[in-house]
Amino acid sequence: MIEQAAPGIYRLPLPLLDNPLGSVNAYVVESDNGIMLVDCGWDTPDAYAALVAGLAAIGRAITDIRAIVVTHIHPDHFGLAARLVTESHALELMHRRDAVLIGGRYEEAEGMVAAMERWLGAHGVPDDELRATAEASLWMLSLVGIRKPDVLLTGGETINRGAYAFEVIPTPGHSDGLFCLYDRASGVLLASDHVLQHVSPHVGMHVRSSADPVQDYLDALRLVRDLPVSVVLPGHGAPFHDLAGRVDELVRRHDERFAEMLRALGDDETTAYTVAGRLVWRGSAEGWRDLTPFQRRMAVTETVAHLEHLARRGRLSRSSAGGFVRYRRAD
Ligand SMILES: [Zn+2]
Ligand SMILES: [Zn+2]
Repeated sequence: MIEQAAPGIYRLPLPLLDNPLGSVNAYVVESDNGIMLVDCGWDTPDAYAALVAGLAAIGRAITDIRAIVVTHIHPDHFGLAARLVTESHALELMHRRDAVLIGGRYEEAEGMVAAMERWLGAHGVPDDELRATAEASLWMLSLVGIRKPDVLLTGGETINRGAYAFEVIPTPGHSDGLFCLYDRASGVLLASDHVLQHVSPHVGMHVRSSADPVQDYLDALRLVRDLPVSVVLPGHGAPFHDLAGRVDELVRRHDERFAEMLRALGDDETTAYTVAGRLVWRGSAEGWRDLTPFQRRMAVTETVAHLEHLARRGRLSRSSAGGFVRYRRAD
């Protein structure tokens, strides 16, 4: 159901079937000259139908879309962009750092799977799980229409629409090219998946990520923490107000994860996969056993990201011998 989230901005949740998040928010920004869409859901018939119905409820249609701002490359935010551009001739905007990933991730997926397989193997994923783990994200290809953006953002631009002048604030971590949109005059922050209220956004490492996505993420949390905001409009879930409080919780959550990983490592020198298997997932010590290959892949990439961060901070040593990357606590 579409609802007004701020003056002239509507929140339109689009369904993500069989996904624990349930829905992704598309935001519709009104102006005299058509609408701007911020994020657009999966390329599925039900997400498309929900978008059409939501727009109709405010007297708008797909052909009124003048610009589609994609806050990051993940299929739930980017998937429908290609179809919508075809139907509306809107301009598609995306950050340069995510735009460069489109080819490898969605067009030459086989090469990416092969690279991921080597990378996951080096981090200890056993042979009998390796293929399934490396291929675990391939199903997502069916949720994405592939299209390169018309406008590449780098950060610092202002996107004017209706009463708003949105500053593009790069906030890498959850994705290298993720950014928030901030209107200083009203204090409206479109936060995408950078700050969510009920979920700690996934921060993982993969073959083409930056060297320390966790540091990127923590820095980007600090960057937005003290912005004067009237409302935070997140990529998933309802709007909220206490930005600084939520940022502090997320920072704490990462600190706890560091401590859990150091404990799980104990005195061993071992791989990220072994460490991941010793952690609590989904609130249970047995959680690891029940993870699907896709969830297990997310768990391993998250674990590697945190261990790499600790290694860069001198808390761990890292060795690579015999084709395996292993970590050990530094004293
Ligand atoms: Zn995301
Ligand atoms: Zn998302």
